[in-house]
Formats: sequence, structure tokens, C-alpha cells
Amino acid sequence: MNLEVELLTDLCGLPAEPPKMRELCNQCQRPKSVCYCSSIPNPPLCPKSRIILLQHPAEEKRCLRTAPMLELGLSEGKCLIFKGKRFPGIHSGLEEILKDPSTLLLYPSPSAIDISSVVKEQTLVKSYNLVILDGTWPQAKAIYTASPILHDLKQIKLLNNNTSNYIIRTQPADGCLSTLETGALCLSILEQNEMFSEKLLQPLKLMCEFQLRNGAVSHQSKEFLIKNNSYPKLIGKRLNKVLKNAESLKYDIT
Ligand SMILES: [Zn+2]
Repeated sequence: MNLEVELLTDLCGLPAEPPKMRELCNQCQRPKSVCYCSSIPNPPLCPKSRIILLQHPAEEKRCLRTAPMLELGLSEGKCLIFKGKRFPGIHSGLEEILKDPSTLLLYPSPSAIDISSVVKEQTLVKSYNLVILDGTWPQAKAIYTASPILHDLKQIKLLNNNTSNYIIRTQPADGCLSTLETGALCLSILEQNEMFSEKLLQPLKLMCEFQLRNGAVSHQSKEFLIKNNSYPKLIGKRLNKVLKNAESLKYDIT
């Protein structure tokens, strides 16, 4: 038998292996090798206030999402997620929450006040519904514009000078935080207890460690890279301007 035929025969004899599916964790839905569940607070934390995430549908498609980390780290009912582009929409119970006087909206409008001062001025209200628009900044703005019910809510902003821990995904501007970081920091302030952000941020820290260990580049924000002229030149003039103007914007953009 000639050598070529012999080789082909051998190849044909190899078992056709079905593509192996990577086993996923039932809880976080991530491959088991990069599951973050061991770092989720156990038992889940139970703050007096609760987080209401109004999530843009596109947010769910991101590969590294932090909203589930927040949801898993808090007891049932303390982090509610509603998906849509306009609210209240058809979600039962949401309209009542959005009309509740103890509901706050995290939105960096000119009239928004610092979240810390809300706590100081209203000592009688012990629990809040904190509404966070979960999406990129343009998506959050679109949700706000399309949802008049949000316009009457008391608007607050989170003043935060820390660079995001979420270094895997390039942040659009310094000071921008992931959904998890935003929720965790707000809760710490509302509950006046730093334990909330310390414990809730653990899975994010673990994820960053996983990624860095596996060779992901630690991204600095686009804003930082532009300032230091190390951002790829492909960026358009318009986006460049937007990012440069974004310095004062302290908002959840992930
Ligand atoms: Zn898991």
C-alpha cells in the first residue's frame, strides 16, 4: 500500500469526536474554570434598601456582565432586574415602585444631588428603592427620554474618584463604573456600611484576577489612553471630543 493511502486510511479510522461543550456553572452560567460563585457573599447580603435595575436589552448580550454578580450577592427581592427600552412597560409592580416617594434615580442630570447628602438630609427614611439604568451611557439616556415616569423621581449622582476595578473592559471615561460597582457603592452609602461594597465586589476582583492570569491586557480607560496619546488613531474626531468632555461625568456606563 502506498504511504499516502495508508495515512488516509489511518485518518479515516480516527473516531469523530463531537465538539465538547464547556461545562457551565448552574448559578453564574460561566464555564466552571472561570466561575466566580465561591466569592459571592454567602449567605447573600440583606440591606434595608433595594436596587432596581432597568436594563437595556443589549446589556444582556455582553460577555462579561456584572449585574448577575449584584443579583446573586443580595437576598431575594433586594435586586430586581427589569428589561426593556421604556418603563414601566408591562412589568407588574414596577409602576408602584417608580411612584414610591422613597425611590431614587441614579442619573447625572444637572439637578441631581450627591447620594451622600440624601442620607444626611433624610434620616427618617431608612430604606430606599435605588433605580439604576443599566446600559451604555447613550442607552441609559434613551431609556430616560422614553420613560417620562422617571423624570419626576428624585435624581442622585455618585461622586466617585476611584478608577474602576473592572479593568478588563476598557472603560469609556475615567470614573466610570460597572453596574456592580455602582450598585455596591450606592448601597454602602445608603446603608452607611462599607461592608456592602467590600463583600459585593469580591466576585469582580476574582474575575479580574482570572483574566489577568490568562493573559488579558489590563486596559486603561480610553480617556487615559487618549490623553497620553497611546490610543489607536482610528478613533474618530467626534468620539475623541466626547471622551475628552466626559471627564466630569461620573456615571455607570457599562
Ligand atoms: Zn458559578
